[in-house]
Amino acid sequence: MAKELHSTCARCAKRVCHPSIRANEVPPVDKAPHFCPMRLFPELIDKAVTEYDKTEVKEFARLASVQEFECYEQTEEGLRTKFPRIEELIQFADKCGYHRLGIAFCIGLRNEAAMLTDILENRGFEVISVCCKSGATAKERIGIKPEQKIGGPENWESMCNPIVQAEVLNAEAVDLAIMLGLCIGHDTLFIKYCRVPITALAVKDRVTGHNPLAALYLSQSPYYERLSAKRKKSDV
Ligand code: SF4
Repeated sequence: MAKELHSTCARCAKRVCHPSIRANEVPPVDKAPHFCPMRLFPELIDKAVTEYDKTEVKEFARLASVQEFECYEQTEEGLRTKFPRIEELIQFADKCGYHRLGIAFCIGLRNEAAMLTDILENRGFEVISVCCKSGATAKERIGIKPEQKIGGPENWESMCNPIVQAEVLNAEAVDLAIMLGLCIGHDTLFIKYCRVPITALAVKDRVTGHNPLAALYLSQSPYYERLSAKRKKSDV
């Protein structure tokens, strides 16, 4: 039986979606691999692209691409990058005309949240922030057992509360919500409930200084080669 095809860009060597051709040429989409989404979902792609016809969406997408462009410079040595993400965040918020920024942060990154607040305020933004423990809701509320509490069964432990974080930033009517170090899953809930535009400054990675790609880059080295080993999901 023929194997069902699914979009698999991560394994593509052709990348005809991003060809090195002149501006007046046409990308050779017919040369795309069989698992290419452009071959599997042509109507879906045509329809999705029409979303950019909406004035607001088009302008937002345009500003994001201008921001992307401005992060590079051509030098005698070739293309160089210019800004860390935190500067990009400031520049993009400025471009979008945002004034009121909301930080949804993990309590473990409270120092970083304070530093970020200083930086953003020094650039003229109004900054609202809300910690993951807001609500002071016991972990038992969501069915966590005493032995599943990080600080031990006998102690109070407030649950991370991304829905509260999202609703506070919704109520504060911030122009842009910035996720700072939310945990896996908690970030998913935050995104689900937050009704203002969201971006991430950092994601939680407790062992790499919140740089999850560090482990990915080391997955071919002895330090994290366990990541590359084949195992059943249940063995992880
Ligand atoms: S869109 Fe098509 S050509 Fe582009 S990376 Fe994915 S599979 Fe390759």
